[in-house]
Amino acid sequence: MLPLMLADVEQAAARIEGHVTRTPLVCSSSLSAFSNQPVYLKLETRQPIGAFKLRGAMNAILSLDEAARKRGLVTASTGNHGRAVAYAARELGLPATICMSALVPANKVEAIRALGAEIRIVGSSQDDAQEEVERLVASRGLVAIPPFDNINVAAGQGTIGLEILEDLPELSTVLIPLSGGGLAGGIAVAIKALMPQTRIIGISMARGAAMHAAVVAGRPVAIREEETLADSLGGGIGLQNRVTFALCRSLIDEIVLLAEDEIAAGIRHAAREESETVEGAGAVGIAAILAKKVSLTGPSVIIVSGGNIDPEIHKTIVDGVVA
Ligand SMILES: *Cc1c(COP(=O)(O)O)cnc(C)c1O
Repeated sequence: MLPLMLADVEQAAARIEGHVTRTPLVCSSSLSAFSNQPVYLKLETRQPIGAFKLRGAMNAILSLDEAARKRGLVTASTGNHGRAVAYAARELGLPATICMSALVPANKVEAIRALGAEIRIVGSSQDDAQEEVERLVASRGLVAIPPFDNINVAAGQGTIGLEILEDLPELSTVLIPLSGGGLAGGIAVAIKALMPQTRIIGISMARGAAMHAAVVAGRPVAIREEETLADSLGGGIGLQNRVTFALCRSLIDEIVLLAEDEIAAGIRHAAREESETVEGAGAVGIAAILAKKVSLTGPSVIIVSGGNIDPEIHKTIVDGVVA
């Protein structure tokens, strides 16, 4: 039996309603023409933090009892998950601490500080920051909110699947950015339960695709992390993975891997043709279609998962100087 069921996702949807944005599903005329099938974009860039991660963080926090909430929340993410925890905590009037290493760039530190979270700078690696999270859980009783491998987090991300089926009941294929698998696993639980014939395609960068390596090996494996334009898709799935590996292994039909120039083309297309500022991780669905690495056989949805990209890097890519 899988660790997450449709009922969990439905409960998450009821819990987070009013706390997150119900995002629009918009038709892309250029990608529809390109693939000879109706193609829609699910714009998670419209969440108040610019990425879907608010759904999972909000559901996990709202699932805590009163005493746990008041002790405060802690996480080590400096990316979209860190923003999500900081934002959700502020909305709910709860304290949040984000641990990060001294190597995290100042703009990322400030983005999270601006959301009202307490910042703790420790050590010089993500592992050091994660160890600090575990110390704060043990010593002060703070509650750790993990970025993906958690039932409530994955259920929150899965609410995207329910919204898609409400808006597009004739759905045939969903293209989902894939890293730790909370997003793809959660959405797949909802969609496979309600429309089992729908194809679920996970998309990662070829450089350091942890879930792909795990599915191929049949168990979580250590991977070497590499720099990529899809920086929000970096990192491992955890060698002790408890939730998302099982979901992705049994519910994802196919995993597509992309080269860096293909991801750049996705970002560029989003800006030029769709007028959307999309980060590398958010552009992989568009990129997979443009690279002809997926064949669509009916109405299809691309999860545009986030838009938090350094403006300078974005400009360089859109102007076509890089890749
Ligand atoms: C976290 C993230 C993903 C991947 O989500 P997982 O649940 O880790 O697979 C994709 N896109 C963006 C923008 C993200 O922040």
